[in-house]
Amino acid sequence: MAQEEGGEVERRSEEKTNKQLFLRLLNFISNDDKKTLAIACIAMSLTSVNNLAFPKIISNLIDSMSNSSNTQAKRKLVVSSLIMFAVGAVGSWLRTYLFTIASDSVSKRLRVELFKAILKQESGFFDQTPVQDMQCRMTDDVQAMANATTSNFAKVYRYTNSALGGSIMLFSISPRLTVATLGVVPLVGVTGMLYGMRAKKMSKKMKENISRIASSVDEKLANIRTVRLFSMEDYEGEEYANLLNSTQEDVKHAAHAEGLFLGGLAFGGFTSLLGVLYYGGTLVERNLITVGALTSFAMYSATVGLGFSGLSQVYAETLKALSSAQRVFEILDRKPSVNQDDGRVLDSIEGNIEVCNVCFAYPSRPDALVLSGVTIQLHKGETLALTGPSGGGKSTIAALITRLYEPSSGKILLDGINMSTLSASWIRKQIAVVNQDPILFSDTIEANIAYGRPHAKRSISEFATVDIQDAARRANALSFIVDLPDGFQTQVGERGSLLSGGQRQRIAIARAMIRDPKILILDEATSALDNASEQLVKEALERLMEGRSTLLIAHRTSTLAGSQRIAVIDGGRIVEEGHYDDLISKRDSIFSHLIQSLPC
Ligand code: ADP
Repeated sequence: MAQEEGGEVERRSEEKTNKQLFLRLLNFISNDDKKTLAIACIAMSLTSVNNLAFPKIISNLIDSMSNSSNTQAKRKLVVSSLIMFAVGAVGSWLRTYLFTIASDSVSKRLRVELFKAILKQESGFFDQTPVQDMQCRMTDDVQAMANATTSNFAKVYRYTNSALGGSIMLFSISPRLTVATLGVVPLVGVTGMLYGMRAKKMSKKMKENISRIASSVDEKLANIRTVRLFSMEDYEGEEYANLLNSTQEDVKHAAHAEGLFLGGLAFGGFTSLLGVLYYGGTLVERNLITVGALTSFAMYSATVGLGFSGLSQVYAETLKALSSAQRVFEILDRKPSVNQDDGRVLDSIEGNIEVCNVCFAYPSRPDALVLSGVTIQLHKGETLALTGPSGGGKSTIAALITRLYEPSSGKILLDGINMSTLSASWIRKQIAVVNQDPILFSDTIEANIAYGRPHAKRSISEFATVDIQDAARRANALSFIVDLPDGFQTQVGERGSLLSGGQRQRIAIARAMIRDPKILILDEATSALDNASEQLVKEALERLMEGRSTLLIAHRTSTLAGSQRIAVIDGGRIVEEGHYDDLISKRDSIFSHLIQSLPC
């Protein structure tokens, strides 16, 4: 008894959740979509009325055909039947087209909101959520949700009409003939084949679109740090919306073809049946077959059967869509642990950074302390070289300074102000980061350099080409760029794969130059560059560092020898700190052992 009550409570709470989810889902239908859906419903009513009237028309036709004397009445009936079938076919085309357009509009809105919500999440979220999982939410789940708000409505409306209207008709007539519609089958087969060939082509195009969009999303999400360090979250959201808009024509063509197919099928099917019955009428005249009432009865039975089975399918589909909605709303409702835009913004900064007694564990591994009481200072305009064995925590310090993560304890000050009280997005605009293996996006060289522009909303066209060229020149990149056949318009390939390592680095330096930041974080390149290329990169970096506070993650003895100050980090602790000469002169110091293992 108690178990039954428990089951009932659970069922009711599930129903309540489903109702809430469904109501929330309906909010994604805009007023324009509602208008589209209303017209689609009117179009569908035409088809429904046509479908319900059809068996009755057949019955009348049969009776009329069996009466050979009234040719005028026969002709009239055939013509009016044809008009009705044509109206039904147009309704069928229109509703298919409009429901598809409305579904596309709802899914676009959902996707853009979801993508923007994902971009706003903190770095710890990305460490723990697989990219494909997010992609699945953005594609399959969103599609199921959009269908539930548009095409499933259509199905419910249509199947209810069939089931209820058909039931009424069924009881109002008397069945006499068995089904004589097998002649429709070859026509359906030919139409299906023709549409199938066309649909195959279109589906390929649509899949290409989907994969183009999916790989672009994949790239941006896989490189979320780069997007974030350049504060490009809003820009990327807009770019994504534009990319989706660019597929609109293909969606329209596919919807148009599907509509024509369904409309043509209905028209062809009904017309061929008309032919069969016309011929059947002659058979009736010769008393070879019985009258039409049973035919209409059989057809109404089929209508009723299809209506009820359709309704149960829609119910299952809607439930599946609600579970998709749950997964999507989970992200939309998630509050990132660091809100990128919360906090103060300063008018100007000097560029002093103090890391004070910072301890840190990554959110994905909360029990593994990566930094234990780290304290370092980076003074205005100075370079601090951070070195130490791999895995010691150098990159983690850089990630904390750019507020990709928050310290577990301790604090980081910018010009004496606790960074946690400042806007994370604003802080990143004051910093440029050049990594060992910089990430470029699959776009032109010009667009990749302009990615460093401080104001995300400024487009490349507003951004003076001369600024981009000047940054490229100072980054020692101009000469190789102008030698390329398309110059600044050269496509760099996915992740910049069409450029060499040294070229990629110089583009990344130009990107940092254009940002003109007060603070610089450099992860010195150790990738195998040839001597000439290495010299060019080195020169460009030195130019970039002039007058800026630089945290330099150093991997070479030559870099360390030229540094003003050096901090050695090992196992998450600063183990030694000082000038090169002081550290090297200490026998048995960690630094002197370390320096022997580093390349020059
Ligand atoms: P370094 O830059 O000195 O080579 P890192 O700062 O990259 O060292 O890494 C310090 C430690 O933090 C390593 O043990 C590494 O495995 C771990 N680590 C780095 N990134 C992450 C992450 N996103 N999630 C969990 N652990 C990480």
